Amino acid sequence: MKFKMDEHNRIKCIAWAYPEQEQNARRYHRVILQDNTFNTNVYKFFLALIVVVDMENYTQIAMQALLSNERSEDFIFLMETFKELCGGLMPQVAFTDCDQGAMGAIAEVFPGALNKLCIWYAMQNIRKHGKGLADGALQSVLQNFKAAAFAARVEDFVRYKTELPRLLPQESAMHKYMEGTIFGAGRVEKWASCVHPGLHKLGIASTQRCEATFTALKLVVTRNGNMVDLNRALLSKVQDDAIKTQSRNKGGAVTRVPVRKVSPQESVKASFLRHFSFVFEAMEHERCSRHAKEDVEEQIFAAFGYEAVTVATGQDAVRTLLAELVADPTKANLAYDICSGEFIDPGGEAAGPAHVTMATRTSVAHFADLLHDQNVEELVRITIFNAQSEFGHLVALGPDGFFLCTCLRMLVYGLPCPHCIKALAHMRGNDKVFSFNAACISPRWRDSETSWTMAHLAAKPARLATADAELAGLPVIDPNSVVVSYSSATVAATVAAAGYADAVSYGKKMGGKLRGITSSAGIQRVLESTYDFFLQQLEVEKRSQ
Ligand SMILES: [Zn+2]
Repeated sequence: MKFKMDEHNRIKCIAWAYPEQEQNARRYHRVILQDNTFNTNVYKFFLALIVVVDMENYTQIAMQALLSNERSEDFIFLMETFKELCGGLMPQVAFTDCDQGAMGAIAEVFPGALNKLCIWYAMQNIRKHGKGLADGALQSVLQNFKAAAFAARVEDFVRYKTELPRLLPQESAMHKYMEGTIFGAGRVEKWASCVHPGLHKLGIASTQRCEATFTALKLVVTRNGNMVDLNRALLSKVQDDAIKTQSRNKGGAVTRVPVRKVSPQESVKASFLRHFSFVFEAMEHERCSRHAKEDVEEQIFAAFGYEAVTVATGQDAVRTLLAELVADPTKANLAYDICSGEFIDPGGEAAGPAHVTMATRTSVAHFADLLHDQNVEELVRITIFNAQSEFGHLVALGPDGFFLCTCLRMLVYGLPCPHCIKALAHMRGNDKVFSFNAACISPRWRDSETSWTMAHLAAKPARLATADAELAGLPVIDPNSVVVSYSSATVAATVAAAGYADAVSYGKKMGGKLRGITSSAGIQRVLESTYDFFLQQLEVEKRSQ
C-alpha cells in the first residue's frame, strides 16, 4: 500500500494491491488497461484500476487506487506505484482514455511503452465535439474515424484522413478538433493501427475490459461505502477472479480421446483432432493454458472451412514471388477492410476464439518485411472453401515450426489462426512435414519460460517511406531500431516472482505444521534453526550458479 498526502496531511491518493495481484502484475504487465470510475465510495474519490489479461484470457485487476483528482500528478503516482509493484518492469502497451493526465503519466513513467487510446472514448469525444453538426454528418465522421483507426495499410489510412475534412465545414469546431487533436502530432499514432500492424496487444482496441470490471464491482459497492466496504468488495472480486482462472487452468487437459457413448459428431471431431496430436503434444510440452488449448482446438475445426494451394516452393521461389507481390500488391489478392473497420473491429471481448478474420491486417510490403530474415520454404494461399472468392490469405511456412499468416493473429493475439493450421495440414497431406513449436504461442498463454519465437516480429512496426509518413502525419520509425523485448531480464523477473510465490506457500505449509508445538519458545527455536538452514542452502545454490 502506498499513499500521498497534501499539505494539510490529508490523503490525496492511495494505491494498494493484494499478493495475488502482485503476481499477476509481474506476470502480465506487458499489456495493461487503465481507467477510472466514480460513485464507489463516500469520499468522492475516483476509483482507478489497472487491469491485465491472464493466461486463461480473464481480466484481472492488477492494482487499484483511490485518487482525489484526475490530474497528471495523480496519474503519475498511480503509474509509479504500479511500476514498483512490478519490480520495475514496464508495460509494452498501455491502454488509457484520451485524458491528458493519463497520457502524460504513461509518457513520463513508462517512456518505452506504447500508449494506445481507447477507440470507444475517442469516439465519445468526437461525439461531444460534434454537437452542432447534422446527424448524418456526425455519423459519417465517426465511421470515417473508425475506418482510419482500423485501416491495415497506410494508403487506406491516408484516404480516410483526406476524406474526413471534406465531410465538414472548414470553420466548424469539429474540423479544427480533427486536425488539431485527433490527427494532431503525437496523437495519431496512439490510435491508428497501421503504424504497427503486428503489435502484440491481444486485439484490444478499447478499455472495455475495465468497464466490464467496473460494472461487476458496482454491484457490490455504493457511493456511501467507506474504505473498509470498498476493500472488502475489491478483495472478494480479486479472489473470485483468481479462483476462476485456477479452476479453468487446473480443470485438466482438453478432452481429445472420445469417451464411451459419444455422439457421432463428437467421434468425428475426436478423430479429426488426432491428426493434430503433434500440435497438442507441443502445447503440452510448453504447458499452455486451457484457454490456449481450447482456442487452438477451435482453430483446427475452423480450418475445415478453408482451401489451400501452394503458390511457391523453395526459398528462392518464395523470395521472387514476394518481391513480385510487393511490386504489385493487387496480385496478392488479399482482402482489406476498406469500409468501416467493422470486419476487424474486435468490439467487445466476446467469449470464444476472437480475432479470426478474412481481412488482411497489414500491407504486402510489411508482410514481406516480417519475412525478410526468415527462412521460408513454402508460401501457401488460403481461401474460403467453395466460396469462389478470389480473396484470401497468404501463409509462409519455414523450418523449426515457423509460420506466419497475413491475418497476423499469431503476432497480435499470440495464438495460431485457422489459416496457418490449414496450411500445415495441407503440407502434411503432401508429405511435407512442418513441425509445430508451441513456443510460437505468446508466453502469456503458457507456464513455460521458453522465450517467444515471435517476439521480434511482433515488435516490428511498419516501415514507412518518409513521403508516406508525411502525408499520413505519422512518425517515421526505423523498425530495426526497435529493441527486442522478452529479454532475459524479464525471464529472471518471472522466475523471481514465481519463487517468491512458492516461498510464501511453503511458509503457510510450515505454519500449519507448527500447531503441534505448544510453547512459543519452541516455535521460535524451530523457525530460527530452519531459517539458518535455509540461508545456508541459499548460499550453496548461489555459488553453484
Ligand atoms: Zn491467418
